[in-house]
Parts: sequence; C-alpha cells; structure tokens
Amino acid sequence: MGYRTFFRGWLTLGAVLASGTALAADPPEWTTPTEPFRIADNLYYVGTKGLAAYLIVSRDGAILIDGPMDRNVASIERNIRRVGVPLDRVRVIVSNHAHDDHVGGIARIKRDTGARFLASAGDRWALEHGTSRGDTNYGVRGYPAVKVDGVIRDGEVVRLGDIALTAHLTPGHTPGCTSWSMVARDAGKLRRVFFPCSITVAGNRLVGNRGYPGIVADFRRTFAKLATMRADIVLPGHPEAADVIERGARRRAGQADAFVDPRLLPRMVAEKRAAFEAELRAAQRGTR
Ligand code: ZN
Repeated sequence: MGYRTFFRGWLTLGAVLASGTALAADPPEWTTPTEPFRIADNLYYVGTKGLAAYLIVSRDGAILIDGPMDRNVASIERNIRRVGVPLDRVRVIVSNHAHDDHVGGIARIKRDTGARFLASAGDRWALEHGTSRGDTNYGVRGYPAVKVDGVIRDGEVVRLGDIALTAHLTPGHTPGCTSWSMVARDAGKLRRVFFPCSITVAGNRLVGNRGYPGIVADFRRTFAKLATMRADIVLPGHPEAADVIERGARRRAGQADAFVDPRLLPRMVAEKRAAFEAELRAAQRGTR
C-alpha cells in the first residue's frame, strides 16, 4: 500500500468511525427555524422546518409533544412564546420516541419550563441514558439524557385542563415508540387528531438485532394496530410525511380544512408496512 492509498484509506476509516456520533449530514431543514402556526383552536406547530414539535394549550397550561434536537431549543422556545404561551405554562412534555431528532432538546426545555416529562417504559432507559437501545446501521447517536418523571401505559390518558391526550404504544421503530391521540375543536368542528410514532425501518437492524430481539414482531403488531385507527388530522414527528408545513400555509391563506385528510393515516400505514416487509425480506436474504 503506497502512502497515498494508505492515507486515503485512513481518511475513509476516520469518516466511518466519526459517523458513529454524527451522521454524514442531517437534512438542513432539521435545524432551520420556522414560524409557528395554528393547526386547530388549541393546537400549534412550534417545531423547525424539518422536525415537528406540537403544543396543545389549555386554561391550566400546555402540553408539548417532542423537543427535537438540542440545537433547536432556542427556536422551539421562541415559537412557544410567540403563540402566547409563557415557558412556565408548559406543564407536561411527552415524546414520539427516544431518538435525538425528536427528544434531543427535551432535557433543556424541561429545565427551562419546569414541566414534567412522561414516557413509556420501553423508551425510559434510552431517554435516561441519552442513547438508543436497538442495533442500527448508523451506530449510536447520543443526546442529552432526560429524567422520566412518570411512565405512560398503553391507553393511558394524560389530562391537563380540558386536554385529554391518549397514549398508544406502537413499538418497532424503538421499543417504546408512542403514538398519541386527542380530539381537537377547530372552528366549531370536532376533529380526531393523531400523532403517529415513526413507523419507518430507518436503519434499524431487522435480523439479528441483539439490542432489540423482538423488533419484527413489534413492528407487525404496530402496523396491525394502526390499521384499525381513524384520524381526521395526522401530525407526525417528521412534518414532510404529512405535508404539515404546506398545510399550515394553506390554512393561513384561508383554507379552513387544510389539515383534514382522513385517508392519510391508512395510506401512510399501508406504504410503510409494505416497505417494512420488503426490507425484512432483503435482510433475511442477507442482501442488507
Ligand atoms: Zn427515529
């Protein structure tokens, strides 16, 4: 091996090692601030351009769903204040799942607001260690660890003022992946709102996953469960999966029902279920 070859090889190895803590490049939208906007009477988008955070407001304070990435905390907190909610009115924080792009900012937001953080038993260890449990093809992406103040069970309802937010355990993407549902009032109409946990394989090892041996069975149970659910408005952690930003712009421009799309959830579930089964077949053949 000549010097040049050796040197190039070393650089490649270095890049591979470094990718354990920082992926090649996160999409720039993940850390691009965006204006907050209203989704329903008491429900707002307060995330960045590429990572969602949702704020549900009541007379007795607010519930925040997700705190995506430590780097985004200032912009999320600014958005919360911009929709008229002082930080100390955020009383409860819940999350989609224990990956840094959804929970990396929660430790700091929790400190700044004094809110209680509730999470499922399946994600608790990961959240409290600032890591993830299963084996992935991208290594471990750490984030600031956050103490879980209360464990949420399947079907449990988190209440604050007139908010009733129901937890649905939908494991697979992580062992404690949690979807949430509520009924929101919007301009006199009642809408079923669903915040689905991620259901993509997204680098999770499906065959021989020692950190999460039950991953395939969990994914399949989750797809079956989600296929029975109905929602008028779907609000995922990755906003582009449901055109959340574009719908927000249309609503602002006067289209009152821009978020209403009852066919969206079944379509998302069918697409992701097919993609999961295809990835599983490929993994079983050893091509992945
Ligand atoms: Zn994830």
